[in-house]
Amino acid sequence: MFIKPYLSRANFLLGRNPRIEKAGDFRRFIPEPYQCALLISADFELAWAWRYARGAGKPLELALEKARQERQNIPAIIDICESFNIPITWLTVGHLFLQSCSRENGRCHPELPRLPHFENRFWVFSGDDWFEHDPCSGYRDAPEWYAPGLIRQILGSTVKHEIGCHTFSHIDCSDETCPPGLMRAELRACKALAEGWGLSLRSFVHPGHTIGNLGVLKEEGFTSFRTDYRNVLGYPKRHGNGLWELQQTAEFYYRKEWPLDYHLYRYKEIIRRAMASHTVCVLWFHPSFDPLVVSHIWTGLFAYIDANRDKIWVATHGEYVDFLQENFK
Ligand SMILES: [Zn+2]
Ligand SMILES: [Zn+2]
Repeated sequence: MFIKPYLSRANFLLGRNPRIEKAGDFRRFIPEPYQCALLISADFELAWAWRYARGAGKPLELALEKARQERQNIPAIIDICESFNIPITWLTVGHLFLQSCSRENGRCHPELPRLPHFENRFWVFSGDDWFEHDPCSGYRDAPEWYAPGLIRQILGSTVKHEIGCHTFSHIDCSDETCPPGLMRAELRACKALAEGWGLSLRSFVHPGHTIGNLGVLKEEGFTSFRTDYRNVLGYPKRHGNGLWELQQTAEFYYRKEWPLDYHLYRYKEIIRRAMASHTVCVLWFHPSFDPLVVSHIWTGLFAYIDANRDKIWVATHGEYVDFLQENFK
């Protein structure tokens, strides 16, 4: 494992990661007068993401810790985005829209079907009920599970962020694990809540990149999803049913094996390569990441993006896919 960060640096230097995939006519994907498109998204989930984390001794404690870190980070993220006018697509767990929830006949969210026991590359679920950790209280008593205040801050920002969808309860969406009826119920719960906020959801990211149920996703009105099969500077793929697949370029996170200035160099260099190759750069992060990302990497990186604003189209997933739909009619 020690060698991995060094190998990764070598592969980066050699231009093998992210892989650059060129297209004959890049103007179908990058509007005039820009040289590249840059999409940044956040998987906004608080405690919902980590409660079944594989290999964590006490996954619920880890989940609560992550949620607290995420709550601390988000106001700083909103601030730095305002300083440099950088919009983010917030793929939001639907439960976070709620002020509170309560049990009905002893059950949380009885209207939603439950996932069966499963294991995947990130999680092991062998509990009694998928909602067993839902406190069924409210944001004051259990701020790790509800976030209407943070959503309000995101929407109240001077930057035009987008709220997208990350399922209602951070489920595994793969076809092996999630029956279509369950996927549909989770998406509809999110859409109904978002509607109460005057929002319509169209961008989606599968929790843990558990890609599946693409037919349901399309039927429920979503237009895009993100994948992590490899790191690519290339172009989105249109699936047969019309959904757009955005291939990840890199995740933002702090690796303690690397100096801080190397992080900044690396992310800047990715964006420089995107401009040079006329490709789409898809960056994403967990807002529970180390706060050093915002304080020591994004300060320099966002200034660099802002200084190249005439060459980089910084868009949300929804805005970018609107452009694609228009161009690929
Ligand atoms: Zn609940
Ligand atoms: Zn997630």
